[in-house]
Amino acid sequence: MKILVTGGAGYVGSHCVRALVAAGNDVCVLDNLSAGHAKAVDPKARLVVGDLVDRVLLDQLFSAVRFEAVLHFAAFIEVGQSVIDPLAFYDNNVGNSVRLLQTMQKHAVKRFVFSSTCATYGIPPKMPITEDFAQIPASPYARAKLAVEWALADSATAWGLGFTALRYFNAAGAAPDGTIGEDHDPETHLIPNVLKVALGQRECVKIFGTDYPTRDGTCVRDYVHVDDLAVAHLRAIETVSPGAARYYNAGTGRGATVREVVDVARRVTGHAIPIVEVERRAGDVPELYADSTKIRAELGWTPRYDKLDDIVGSAWNWHKNHPNGFDDRPRKA
Ligand code: UDP
Repeated sequence: MKILVTGGAGYVGSHCVRALVAAGNDVCVLDNLSAGHAKAVDPKARLVVGDLVDRVLLDQLFSAVRFEAVLHFAAFIEVGQSVIDPLAFYDNNVGNSVRLLQTMQKHAVKRFVFSSTCATYGIPPKMPITEDFAQIPASPYARAKLAVEWALADSATAWGLGFTALRYFNAAGAAPDGTIGEDHDPETHLIPNVLKVALGQRECVKIFGTDYPTRDGTCVRDYVHVDDLAVAHLRAIETVSPGAARYYNAGTGRGATVREVVDVARRVTGHAIPIVEVERRAGDVPELYADSTKIRAELGWTPRYDKLDDIVGSAWNWHKNHPNGFDDRPRKA
């Protein structure tokens, strides 16, 4: 299949591009490299450095290649930043998605996979989360993701778009060969931050909140390996059909606490990884884990990484071999 991947130089996108290429697809990546890394893009894919804000570029791309499908990863991801500058998120995450969809409509491209998020559920009343839970997002980031889900649903009705929205839980880990992995700047995610301590780049891990109503007082999250997410995208794109709207939780169904993640990282790295317990981080929800029955049944998806040790182990393999990530731009202070 000829596939356009926006944000294919980013963390989840780049692992997905690799899986798409390995499965024999002809992949074009569109990425403005504001957060992505050219080095993360599979050399067998074509990289176009450009911005989704550029309608002329989009039109040229779709005129030059008859894309059969689009995978849309490109987006701002920092929840805290979305609270400070919401319009930047509505502009970049909603506006650019709309422009992309308008171009697809014009060129009659009707297969789409969208990177959505479990954050669209907000603070769910119980666990695990099924796809029919009410979506009451609690941040501008999550509201912008939900707005795109609505634009997709309306497009399915109005012009026959077929789409799958994958609501990611916590993407983690790295390609097992250690060649690509997670490299955000600034890094806010738990697993890379823990591993930076093992690397000696930070003195200790801050644990944000130890008084949550969970088994050890710290937040529970569903960590899903990035290559398993990539497989979910492959299955999604293979099965999407014009006019059909589909939504899946992309999580393992297993939750781990922050302390459990730190313990796993201690085992995997052999480093003591000191912790310091600090206040709760604004906006964190006590527990989030998926009921992934639907994606398993309908897409035949089974996460291969079912042990947190293996997920953290693959991340460690990347971080210890690439202590400065892709090392392709000056770090922010
Ligand atoms: N967390 C933490 N210390 C860190 C980073 C994260 O205690 O340095 C906690 C955070 O409060 C949350 C969990 O780890 O409960 C996962 O956070 P992350 O930012 O990785 O993902 P999120 O679930 O927020 O998308």
